[in-house]
Amino acid sequence: MNCRLCNQPKKLIKAHIIPDWAFRYLKQDNHLFQINMKAKSRKIQSGYWDRTILCEDCDKKILGRYDTYGKKFFSQDFSSKIKTINDPRGNAEYLHITNFDYSLLKLFLLSVIWRASICKKEQFSSVNLGSYEEIIKDMIFSTKLTHENDTQIAMFTWKAPPKGLSFSKAIISPFKRNFGADVYSLVMAGFEILIKVSPLQSSIHMDGFNVVKPEGFVILSTDFEASAVGKVTKKIRQRIQEAKYTEKQSHYQ
Ligand SMILES: [Zn+2]
Repeated sequence: MNCRLCNQPKKLIKAHIIPDWAFRYLKQDNHLFQINMKAKSRKIQSGYWDRTILCEDCDKKILGRYDTYGKKFFSQDFSSKIKTINDPRGNAEYLHITNFDYSLLKLFLLSVIWRASICKKEQFSSVNLGSYEEIIKDMIFSTKLTHENDTQIAMFTWKAPPKGLSFSKAIISPFKRNFGADVYSLVMAGFEILIKVSPLQSSIHMDGFNVVKPEGFVILSTDFEASAVGKVTKKIRQRIQEAKYTEKQSHYQ
């Protein structure tokens, strides 16, 4: 089988779909949640990796560069970037992000959703980029950003971890949400990242200041329980209670 990135008939290696460091990040908290939006079972049957998609050069050199930057970006101390708006309608918190590598951050996030799209494992079955699979592959391979309006990214975070389980730091298998356009949700490292992959206008969350842009952007802090992810995780939490879900604390393979 050819590598899906360079298209060469090279030996394929065990390639992570969601980078390993995202899981290590969770381990600091002693909570590692592997949540599969679709599977009925309480355990993830196979890991967040695939042996049938990438050669070592592409995984280590091309994607490795993006993954390294993703780790640097998401591991930074965001506390100095928290700003608060005092407003009669209610106070709002947000993070103002500037001085970052726009190209590497965007290509990192697109590469995660691309890897999920080419991976045929069940936990990524709701990610299907269609004709954008090829377009995003070219962007990843060439390090050139094209189709800017079709691949907008917005990020959200949560004010504080919810009581009990640290679901705000969960990793949730990317899943498709529909806001008038195909938008994929990726939850990792304490953020919900929305990635639009469509020429259409998204109905919400892609309206300007919160879209990742070279000059900077805003990450809104929402109330976790009221957020879309909070609602989804509430359902998952119920399912976990029903299924006696296993929480793994020390090892992930
Ligand atoms: Zn390759």
